[in-house]
Amino acid sequence: MPSYALGKAPRGRSRWVLLLLSLVAVGLLAWGSLRRGPSPAVVIESARPAVGSSTRVVARFSEPLGGLGRITLELIQGDRAVTLAEQRFARAGAFSPTRGRFTANAELSATVGRSAQDWLKEGEVILRATADRMAGPLRSGLSVVVEKRMAVRLRPPHLELLSKQHYVRQGGSGIAVLRVGDSAVRSGVRGGTVESLSFVLPGGGPGERFALFAIPWDLTDVNQVRLFAEDDAGNRVEMPFVNLFKPSPPRMDRLELSDSFLAKVVPAIASQTPGFDASGSLLDQYLRINGDVRRATLAAIAKVAADTQPAFLWRGAFAQMPNTQRRASFAENRTYVYQGKVVDHQTHLGLDLASTEHAPVPAANAGRVVFSGWLAIYGNAVIIDHGYGLMSLYGHMSSFSVKVGDVVAKGQQIGNSGSTGLAGGDHLHLEIFVQGKSVDPLEWLDEHWIRDNIATKVKLP
Ligand SMILES: [Zn+2]
Repeated sequence: MPSYALGKAPRGRSRWVLLLLSLVAVGLLAWGSLRRGPSPAVVIESARPAVGSSTRVVARFSEPLGGLGRITLELIQGDRAVTLAEQRFARAGAFSPTRGRFTANAELSATVGRSAQDWLKEGEVILRATADRMAGPLRSGLSVVVEKRMAVRLRPPHLELLSKQHYVRQGGSGIAVLRVGDSAVRSGVRGGTVESLSFVLPGGGPGERFALFAIPWDLTDVNQVRLFAEDDAGNRVEMPFVNLFKPSPPRMDRLELSDSFLAKVVPAIASQTPGFDASGSLLDQYLRINGDVRRATLAAIAKVAADTQPAFLWRGAFAQMPNTQRRASFAENRTYVYQGKVVDHQTHLGLDLASTEHAPVPAANAGRVVFSGWLAIYGNAVIIDHGYGLMSLYGHMSSFSVKVGDVVAKGQQIGNSGSTGLAGGDHLHLEIFVQGKSVDPLEWLDEHWIRDNIATKVKLP
């Protein structure tokens, strides 16, 4: 058949045509992918989840292969669009010392909110970041657009005080019951720069919360004690709520530092503090312990303070260790004197209770152990969480018999007194914290104070 005979010769040629065609196809694909290449990566981040008065936003751009061309960050609401920031990049020329160099990474940042754009309305905004990659002979200047939608809130959340008769003392504690609107994400009591955050009120209605709060020992201005609520856009409302404020100025005390005291406490603490700078005289090292190590210890306690349970774990007044005498009290401003010269000032923020040597130390109230071990200036220490941010610390112990996670009953032995850490003689240092801030323990040891100031405001179990 002719068709059969004819078919033989073209079959050989078509093989070459096919090969040529596939080479062209591969070439086109390679050309195309070169022209396309990877697109620039764009990410938009904001310091807050929503926009209010002022929210910092940043757009990050990257194109590591060929470099960025032009980048922009825009703000859009309704039919209004403004350019917040913009930048163009050029590839370094053939005769430049940085020949062929390009910009692989860049960022644009701006402030978004009523303080920067007074035309913003409640609702929503779109942040739009655009990146053009650097165009070249083999590359197109491809654009990538990324958008982030954010809520705009301009009114602070609703805040209402529900509890009455707030009598507070400088360095003391208290409870305030409040109701907040749906948009509130943080609320509680501010005492100066210290914020005590609220918890959901057990058995309360919608939006009802309460805050167990600390009044800092050095706060003297009652106008600085306020209820507050804040939304995720940073809109904040504050109101006064204290009916009576009792000043309680710190007591003054003078402590002589003897060589025998320094020789006892310094090497013991230095050897157990990782990274401690043990250079200089014993006094130099003591001052580092009393300063830097004290601050690091308080920071460690602040971390432990977050490990609290949303429950009243305690019952009744806190108990003072039996058969003890109060030696030093809360908020004593100590002046440290060495060989007749003033060398340091610190504030003592606990209650020092002295008994016999190695006397059993009971838990002042029921709770859960959140720390046990070496705690620098406090020596061997135990911290018990009593719930809702209230904690007690037992310092300078010769030994302890509980571990983290142990549930302890009021009066249960947790260790023995001693003189570890910064202690001259055998005693217990009892310190009470509200959300990591030291408060006067005497209030918590007083059942009348608890009845009048706590039990009248929240229903204790
Ligand atoms: Zn003490």
